Amino acid sequence: SLLKDKVAIVTGAGSGIGKAIAVLYAQEGAKVVVSDINETSGQQVVNEIKSSGGEAFFFKADTSSAEDNKQLVAAAVAQYGRLDVACNNAGIGGPAQLTGEYDIEAWNKVISINLNGVFYGCRYQLEQMEKNGGGSIVNIASIHGTVAAPYSSAYTATKHAVVGLTKNIGAEYAQKNIRCNAVGPGYILTPLLETHLDDAAKKAIAAKAPMNRLGTSKEIAELVAFLSSDKASFSTGAYYIADGGYTAI
Ligand code: NAD
Repeated sequence: SLLKDKVAIVTGAGSGIGKAIAVLYAQEGAKVVVSDINETSGQQVVNEIKSSGGEAFFFKADTSSAEDNKQLVAAAVAQYGRLDVACNNAGIGGPAQLTGEYDIEAWNKVISINLNGVFYGCRYQLEQMEKNGGGSIVNIASIHGTVAAPYSSAYTATKHAVVGLTKNIGAEYAQKNIRCNAVGPGYILTPLLETHLDDAAKKAIAAKAPMNRLGTSKEIAELVAFLSSDKASFSTGAYYIADGGYTAI
């Protein structure tokens, strides 16, 4: 298995892509700290992992808080003794508004979760990984880390920023046995999308990608698990898209 005996953290692991990543990490042999701001859904994911023979526990953390990210890493180390893998996945879409009309409070909220949250995560994960001699971080960006999402400026800005942050970390830690990569999912059928779009809108979005369908969380988790593992040993500071061809045309 890809992640045998590795200790891993996944943020936003109570739903959608994060849930699929936590479940696959556990299937691949990792001990997983399932973290989310939503205790109920996070605990459910832990129960799912345990009932199929995996190892996990839940730790509640709001990624927009530096202190919560610090405590999350401390909890992983207290329970399992080290930290090998982290996936900074928690993110929100924000409202659909023209940039010239974008709500300032909403802007700040998207920045605090999608950008500050990923930085805070990396900040404490890197410190611990350096202590225990290495590790691999995967930050969940989006195709909107490289192309626009009209009416979602805050989202596009934060996802581009996550790609940049990831490059910096890749460069800074390349000789410290710590790799850091970003993943850019195209449109994936998760609760995030379900709550924003009706059936017609889903069809229209699917049609924007050559594959003419939405992706699944599992398809993203497979890429994340590979990048998290030693199989991706020459990959760092890079941005990997899985989007059914969306950004190819
Ligand atoms: P989702 O809404 O299904 O799940 C997100 C999870 O994050 C939820 O469990 C939520 O409780 C948690 N969360 C929200 N704010 C949090 C916070 N401050 N601290 C901790 N947890 C928090 O979303 P998803 O579609 O699975 O998206 C996951 C990631 O993938 C996001 O970063 C998103 O931007 C990215 N992404 C999603 C898509 C897509 O099409 N669904 C495409 C590209 C990128």
